[in-house]
Amino acid sequence: MKVTLYGVRGSIPTSSGETIKYGGHTACIFVEVDNKLLVFDAGTGIRKLGNDIAKDDRDIYLFFSHYHWDHIQGFPFFKPAYQCGRNIHLLSAYLPEKNARAVLDQMVNPHFPVPGDKVQAKVRVMAMDAEGNLALGKIKITTCALNHPGGGAAYRLETEQGSFAYVTDNELYPPNEPNTTWEQWVDFLQGVDLLIHDAMYLDEEQKSTHGWGHSLISQAIRLAKDANVANLVLFHHDPDRTDEQLEGILEDCQTWVDKNNASYKLRLAKETDVYHILNSTVELNS
Ligand SMILES: [Zn+2]
Ligand SMILES: [Zn+2]
Repeated sequence: MKVTLYGVRGSIPTSSGETIKYGGHTACIFVEVDNKLLVFDAGTGIRKLGNDIAKDDRDIYLFFSHYHWDHIQGFPFFKPAYQCGRNIHLLSAYLPEKNARAVLDQMVNPHFPVPGDKVQAKVRVMAMDAEGNLALGKIKITTCALNHPGGGAAYRLETEQGSFAYVTDNELYPPNEPNTTWEQWVDFLQGVDLLIHDAMYLDEEQKSTHGWGHSLISQAIRLAKDANVANLVLFHHDPDRTDEQLEGILEDCQTWVDKNNASYKLRLAKETDVYHILNSTVELNS
């Protein structure tokens, strides 16, 4: 399994010398496994992915965590959407089915010149089963409800090569009743080889951000320990966070990991990073 990070920034794309190292594109993760092309979220990072896979005519399975702008706004610039004979399957869970075409519905006058229902690719909404799960060939996909305004889904993939989980826009301790409790997250993520998790805010920022649907970085690193995760990647960086600040945060988090004898490998999500998972071993090629 190959996991490529095309967009790692939260909320809005950023472009400046201060954010260039970790990248400014919003959420988009590309997973190639068992001869299938899976994409998680269509943030602005999906434009480059579309260019990279334009000549690969396999079906594209596009999973959405939810439909906030930073997770859909790259789709109008996704080359495969304009290719005749291309099949694109849209998938989501825990969200009203009528919202599933949000990526196409954003393509409307006066915001975009090509209407969403006029793209050349065959775009269809594909349903998960009643429990929110799906089997795609040998890939088993399970989901869990996000704690986020408007809801959404976290995904876990089990494959012959290993396991991967994508959990973004998730507040581990929201001020209201959570859709998924800490204990349920620990169960859902138990022993996963590679976890990409929302890590947007610092403890001192909680006062103004509690209830916005994002985790404290300190909570994400604790969850990975409780769930016996092998590799944790901190994701959905705050758009105001500079590369230097991110590296300072990583250093503090690593101190916590060492002090608490957590055995996982900790990294910051960085655009263009590629993780290979084979025999449940994760290797990073940046
Ligand atoms: Zn987001
Ligand atoms: Zn969101």
